[in-house]
Amino acid sequence: MNIDSWIAAKIGSEQGEAPARAALSAYQLARLRETIAYAKRNSPFYERTLADIDPDRDIRALEDIASVPLMDETALIDEGELMICVPASGVSRIVTVETSGTIGLPKRIYFTEEDQELMIDYVYHGLKVMAGSSDVFLVLMPCERPGSVGDLVRIGLERMGASVIALGILPVDGSRDAEALALMRERGVTSMLATAGAAARLAEKSIGDMTLEKNMRTVLLSAEYVSDDRRALIERAWDCKVFEHYGMTEMGLGGAMACEARSGYHPREADILFEIIDPMTGEPVPDGAYGEVVFTTLTRQAMPFIRYRTGDFSRWLPGRCSCGSVLKRLARVGDRKITKGY
Ligand SMILES: [Zn+2]
Repeated sequence: MNIDSWIAAKIGSEQGEAPARAALSAYQLARLRETIAYAKRNSPFYERTLADIDPDRDIRALEDIASVPLMDETALIDEGELMICVPASGVSRIVTVETSGTIGLPKRIYFTEEDQELMIDYVYHGLKVMAGSSDVFLVLMPCERPGSVGDLVRIGLERMGASVIALGILPVDGSRDAEALALMRERGVTSMLATAGAAARLAEKSIGDMTLEKNMRTVLLSAEYVSDDRRALIERAWDCKVFEHYGMTEMGLGGAMACEARSGYHPREADILFEIIDPMTGEPVPDGAYGEVVFTTLTRQAMPFIRYRTGDFSRWLPGRCSCGSVLKRLARVGDRKITKGY
């Protein structure tokens, strides 16, 4: 069962069948209209910013989303509290993300229990391409707090039947690398999730280590830009396959994941509607052209995001993926540090 059958089940198509693109688009349109109505009804922020948008009247096709105002992290920083659509009792987790701008104020993203379950379910289905019940999976992402990214990944993987070692994020100075490598050897780690920096550092320190090379099958990189050099280094050191994931906390952590073809990433289109816009004009770019990634959440309760500008730069890859999926493919997202200046 690949990710298409999961998407099909989510959108109400026949279980086990690939969803038709038209059915997926119709589902997205219905959810988009619902999301706009829900956000306007429940949040003062969207009541104001979407005052002129009547989903029944104005959103007749997915392209009509272009008439909806864009928003960015400044709005989230300044007015995040006004974006919340559920009473305080319904919020199960608040994730704080530090921002690096001149003001440096944090972003706070709110989740209900159901919002978090969406991510767990995504891990369970999305990571089947690289992990299964026989894997020993090392998670090198923040996992100490319940509901943190590493914690949700752990729950999703355990649901799959994998053994999970959630070690948490490694310090960038490498001071805990030896501990991680010893653990990988002793426990026979076969898969891992890490930032590209941490994975590359561990790979470099373990070149020629036959135990690790023999065991490691797959490595998932997330949270930062992956250069070709780092990717090659990891694949060479451990003789494994590297998969990449694209996401951010605002997306509900998970956004898009590489498939076995490993050519771009497939967005989880039943939960998130992605667009590529011209960052200067805010207009949609022609299909296949580069621009800024903008997304709208279709199923989130606590804090929906509607046309949120990511500051990331990508494009749609043309044609159907060789894996056979009907899902679109986002090209690899460039380095945020570079694209911010675009
Ligand atoms: Zn694919």
